Amino acid sequence: SRGGDFDNRDVLSKILTLRAERAELLGFANHAEFILANQTAQTVDVVNRRLAELAAPAVVNVRREANDLQAMIESEGADFQLAAWDWDFYAEKLRSERFDFDANQLRPYFELENVLQRGVFYAAERLFGIHFEERDDLPVYQEDVRVFEVIDVGGTTLGMFIADFYARPSKRGGAWMNSYVSQSELMGTQPVVANHLNITAPPAGEPTLLTFDEVTTMFHEFGHALHGLFSAVKFPYFSGTSVPRDFVEYPSQVNEIWAIWPEVLENYAVHYESGEAMPRTLLEKVVSSQTFNQGFATTEYLAASIVDQALHQLTVDEVPAADLIMAFEEQALGAAGIQVDEVPPRYRATYFSHIAGGYSASYYSYIWSEVLDADTAEWFYDNGGLQRENGDRFRRSLLSQGGSKDAMSLYRSFRGRDAQILPLLERRGLN
Ligand SMILES: [Zn+2]
Repeated sequence: SRGGDFDNRDVLSKILTLRAERAELLGFANHAEFILANQTAQTVDVVNRRLAELAAPAVVNVRREANDLQAMIESEGADFQLAAWDWDFYAEKLRSERFDFDANQLRPYFELENVLQRGVFYAAERLFGIHFEERDDLPVYQEDVRVFEVIDVGGTTLGMFIADFYARPSKRGGAWMNSYVSQSELMGTQPVVANHLNITAPPAGEPTLLTFDEVTTMFHEFGHALHGLFSAVKFPYFSGTSVPRDFVEYPSQVNEIWAIWPEVLENYAVHYESGEAMPRTLLEKVVSSQTFNQGFATTEYLAASIVDQALHQLTVDEVPAADLIMAFEEQALGAAGIQVDEVPPRYRATYFSHIAGGYSASYYSYIWSEVLDADTAEWFYDNGGLQRENGDRFRRSLLSQGGSKDAMSLYRSFRGRDAQILPLLERRGLN
């Protein structure tokens, strides 16, 4: 954005203009309205309101965090004001001071087979009454891939689950769920779904010991798998995870809550050699360290989401020319009350690849699904947690419906009301 060879301001201004033109040709007021019409949120007003109600508490919290970091700077005898480039350094120092544990201490308690069978599968068995039978007799495309037949409550086969957990040179990075056969009554198909992870394989004969992040990822991806497995719709177009982008992460994020649910955690977090339970104090540190630095994370994320919306809620005439793009961004952040000098947006408009690609006017969707997920976690807490009755309700009213009905009405039928933001604020320590 400073006039060098890779200055993107002109490109961005052109992209915004073309998108605004297309939206107008299609009868929409702007690009965001066009995109959101097919999302769960549906209108720009709803998205703007959600971002605004989260911005205020996030800023309050980030100010508190900034004060803590400033105090740390001063306690070391330094004499300068905290700036954006100091944040990571001092936040890491404060993190290790407050939550004094080494991530490697945890790994012996997170052995892959324990996490899968006594954690991920166990939670699903308790909630939904299903169970898993490994099928060694079926051919696989890769030696270390495993196949499980998923048996429903009445003993019938629900579908197949493929566990492809280990990294290999030919595999794409990251973690994801794939649906190889989608459930459909019309086509008479049952689901075949897979979780693909990138866990480093241990040396021969050694156990696979996971990090806490990898454990959480296993639960997350299995949440997508359940969405595919429980699908009970007529048309393949609406099967399983075929839902709007701002809804698809919701069931998988809900499944993450079981990773730290006491009954589940106690069941799988046992030492792989001695079988001893993970020490209570270590467990508590893991859980409480999750709200650390959340003011920062929430603020930088919301700032980027607000810029994304502001840039895409413009008519053709309103799109700023290249030399006014950066000023427009500052003005949008100021108007939203989220202009914090020490915490710039996670991405500035000129290097925000999400919005140049498929996430234009959609960057809000991460926190949108997290609001639903935290509100759902609260429902499970209030209603006795890990019980068949609760699992069945979630399966019947939501997971089984795929994209066949309006997502928010599915949510209401499960929750009994619209989602509220307080549970998310509590989870992120922002209340
Ligand atoms: Zn996901």
